[in-house]
Amino acid sequence: MTLTIATSLDDILAGLAAGARPIAGGTDLVVGSRQGKGSLPDTLIAIDRVAELAAIEASGESTRVGSGVTHARLMTDPTIFDQFTAIADAAALVGSPATRNVGTLGGNVMNGSPAMDTGAPLVVLGATAELASASGTRTIGLDELWTGPGQTSAKADELCTALVIPNRAANSGSAYVRLEYRRAMEIAIVGAAASVELDGDTITSVRVALTAVAPTILEVTGLDGIVGGSADQTTLATVAEAASEQAAPISDLRASDKYRRHTIGVMASRAVDAAARRASGEQISVPVNRALGVGAVQ
Ligand SMILES: Cc1cc2nc3c(=O)[nH]c(=O)nc-3n(C[C@H](O)[C@H](O)[C@H](O)COP(=O)(O)OP(=O)(O)OC[C@H]3O[C@@H](n4cnc5c(N)ncnc54)[C@H](O)[C@@H]3O)c2cc1C
Repeated sequence: MTLTIATSLDDILAGLAAGARPIAGGTDLVVGSRQGKGSLPDTLIAIDRVAELAAIEASGESTRVGSGVTHARLMTDPTIFDQFTAIADAAALVGSPATRNVGTLGGNVMNGSPAMDTGAPLVVLGATAELASASGTRTIGLDELWTGPGQTSAKADELCTALVIPNRAANSGSAYVRLEYRRAMEIAIVGAAASVELDGDTITSVRVALTAVAPTILEVTGLDGIVGGSADQTTLATVAEAASEQAAPISDLRASDKYRRHTIGVMASRAVDAAARRASGEQISVPVNRALGVGAVQ
């Protein structure tokens, strides 16, 4: 196995064109190979020393979050916290401090697990992925990027350089809630993200997406009926029902499909509740599910 340490974006793109695989924090790639999930590629190119991949840049209409931004930074960065709070909620839940210090947004997204914690927040916030190769750059929707568990539509020579997120209106809020049996080193049993925009108490826009209940992150459809109402118990019950109905969970060692189908409804309704409360100006600390007492207590 050979490992090259890239110092520029051009280095990385040349390396990928020559057949190397990118490694950012290595918390999926290296840990996975040690757990026997697959052997390490013959040629790796380390991308974690290229500063431009670690930038968070706000422009008039959107914010470009570099793929190399770590979870530790996502959970504390003021722009992410103020505008895209669901991403901060998600990043704060990832692994341990050691995992969060080296694990990156790009690695989480490109690993393509249906249990990735930043995926549902990115979907409800309308993010797109920027992919670059030696022959150019393109931007694609996340529904186009994730094609199955651990699979993306990106070509082998394409690097995810950034996630681009439309800037949020002042009267909006977002939240990510994850069911967990314990408070550290836990992959989502199920999780849900919501973004809500309000006019006074009235919902003017809502998006909900689900973690670990389908082969890829699943956006809940058919929520138009709750637009025009408030985030009251009837609305939250409608969200819970839609999420449970649309989920297509599996049974595994950690939970049955029936349990996942029930709890995803609870998580989705709590995510909408928390997002609406944030949209109305309430300060709820990150991660929101621990602030609200959802899931494990220690
Ligand atoms: C103990 C532990 C706990 C964990 N807990 C969680 C958790 O709670 N929630 C969660 O979601 N995840 C969790 N993870 C998984 C992992 O930490 C995250 O998915 C992390 O964000 C991966 O980022 P990375 O930079 O380490 O990726 P890497 O391991 O470096 O890369 C992952 C994959 O993405 C590719 N890749 C990386 N960057 C790019 C890029 N810019 N462009 C194209 N391809 C790229 C790599 O080639 C590889 O295939 C955990 C992992 C460990 C070891």
